[in-house]
Amino acid sequence: MKFLRYEYQNFVNWGWLLEDNIGKIEGNIFGEYRRFEANIPLSEARLLPPVKPSKIICLGRNYASHVAEHQVDVPEIPLIFLKPPSSLIGHGGKIVLPPQSKQVEHEAELAVIIGKTGRWIDPEKAEEFIFGYTIANDVTARDLQRFDGQWTRGKGFDTFCPVGPYIETDFDSSDALITCKINQQIRQMSSTRDMVFPVEKLIAFISSIMTIEPGDLILTGTPAGVGQLKTDDQIEIEIEGIGRLENIVVSKDG
Ligand code: MG
Repeated sequence: MKFLRYEYQNFVNWGWLLEDNIGKIEGNIFGEYRRFEANIPLSEARLLPPVKPSKIICLGRNYASHVAEHQVDVPEIPLIFLKPPSSLIGHGGKIVLPPQSKQVEHEAELAVIIGKTGRWIDPEKAEEFIFGYTIANDVTARDLQRFDGQWTRGKGFDTFCPVGPYIETDFDSSDALITCKINQQIRQMSSTRDMVFPVEKLIAFISSIMTIEPGDLILTGTPAGVGQLKTDDQIEIEIEGIGRLENIVVSKDG
């Protein structure tokens, strides 16, 4: 099933998608809820980030191909960092280039949505904690990331975490194609099978450090082909079996 959050006629709601129509949901999508008839045309609603996470946990260097292009080593244990929830935007939202950076880059990624609270989760049991999947762009000010040595500033600007368009609960993360196009040109294309650490191991590792909660997002890392974004760029990230996330880039003044 596909879950989403949307704004329609000045109301914000959770919803579910049936072909090109949205049905309202009342209640908690991670607990008890009620679905209503799908009678709102998708084209008339504004899509919002499909989750409200307590935290966004991201993986660095989780595809060998991306590690190679940055001439660093594949980590022996997962390398994690956080993005603030204030960086989230939805499908159709605008990525704002901050004036502090001269090198903002896209990173197409598969994102996991956690469905229940957990700590010290076994990899074999990790599946039980997955609610669904969506598409994310771990937008990065590469020059600031390099300058600082730690990544909070380079990864944390407002609008630097586009996610969506919706949550797909029926998805196999073991071998799905990820494609990123900028202005119709393919920049990134890879399969999730090339991840260094698969989703189950990531959930086990992260939950050995912090409690994961319903709605938390895990961005699983990006494959090779990251590149610079410029004003007016149109970004399309597609993951086979989920859908397509589209965003545009604007300058501070735009
Ligand atoms: Mg990334």
